[in-house]
Amino acid sequence: MRSKVFFGSIQQGRDVVFAALGAKVDKILELLDFSTIDKRDKVAIKMHLGFQDGYQTVPVLFVRRIVKAVKAAGGWPFITDNPTSVYNAVERGYTSETCGCPLIPAAGVKDGYTETVIVDFKNVDKLEMSGVLHDADALIDLTHVKGHASCGYGGAIKNLAVGGYAAQSRWEKIHGVEHSVTYWDSEKCSPEHAQKLVEACPYKALKYDAEKHKLTIGMFACANQNCMECLDTDKEVRCLEISPEFFNAFQELLAISAKKVLETFDENKRFFVNFLLQITPHCDCMGMAQPTVVPEIGVLGSRDIVAIETATLDLIAKAGLMEASIPPYFRHVNLDPNARLHPFERLWGSMKNPYLTLRYASELQLGTSEYELIEILSPEDTAKMEPPKQAYERQPSFY
Ligand code: SF4
Repeated sequence: MRSKVFFGSIQQGRDVVFAALGAKVDKILELLDFSTIDKRDKVAIKMHLGFQDGYQTVPVLFVRRIVKAVKAAGGWPFITDNPTSVYNAVERGYTSETCGCPLIPAAGVKDGYTETVIVDFKNVDKLEMSGVLHDADALIDLTHVKGHASCGYGGAIKNLAVGGYAAQSRWEKIHGVEHSVTYWDSEKCSPEHAQKLVEACPYKALKYDAEKHKLTIGMFACANQNCMECLDTDKEVRCLEISPEFFNAFQELLAISAKKVLETFDENKRFFVNFLLQITPHCDCMGMAQPTVVPEIGVLGSRDIVAIETATLDLIAKAGLMEASIPPYFRHVNLDPNARLHPFERLWGSMKNPYLTLRYASELQLGTSEYELIEILSPEDTAKMEPPKQAYERQPSFY
């Protein structure tokens, strides 16, 4: 059975408010149907509040509307994210006053309020899930979608799979799973050769510890394995291997850790809203403004995480990359029109297939990739609609 995914396009049939994105967000919230939220349910709105100068997150205008809709349903909403992002969220315009509800650090003020979950996947035995998220009765997974250096794509699954855990689990365990895959043969590699490999990498992804005779690849920093310049340098010695397994381990763990978070909520109390606006190459953790590399698309809402993520990636594939906006530090973008690659694979490399996490999530029965895209207030429909007779400035005027 196909899952419903509601879509509001940034495109509009008329230059009036009822045809624009704000109205579409309201409609999608109505169709998502918050009536399964019980009175006084504590509703976690998990979103990324950005870091430092990274303002390209979900606009506070829409956050506020979601908060309002939850309150109207009888729920008690709160916004949650990692403690640093919450602490300085005011710098990016998010406060209790602007959002309309409290902002609470997901794992407490010292990032230590957690619930241990057993994972047993490769080199990761357990993870520390954010306690506040674990305590909540209902979940709104509110996501700004963008590219991601480690897996090509950051969306609703990653918002929970990484964002739902305390810092040590996020950085050392989830991002450290790549080291469970063997990619370097220490016996074949001399210290001199290791040094040459380090120098060959234009993205500084290779690190060599001469004392321990240990070479490591940072998956995040291996920012574009379209390049493979290290393998060129290695072709005589062949001590290094960059394989899909290296990247896949991370994506599989994302599906597992997202499932652990989702399992703490009743199925009818999970809602997913993806904003396909300001789609940047890197994730929101970078803490900086970035050029957007995909045209503005709109907003999606669903009760199925796999369906909404699949629809998101399909819409991004359809929109394509805005080549002129790709930053110059991407030196190995694959723009070959004959290559059947998703825009995020063109940017980050074909081993970072953004659909892979969804495939793992589907196998774990988190949802289905079969979806029905229901466009609401489409440009065609709104072009035919008559605007209400009203003054342009409907709210208190300063004239
Ligand atoms: S594939 Fe490219 S970015 Fe990755 S480690 Fe090798 S040289 Fe560096």
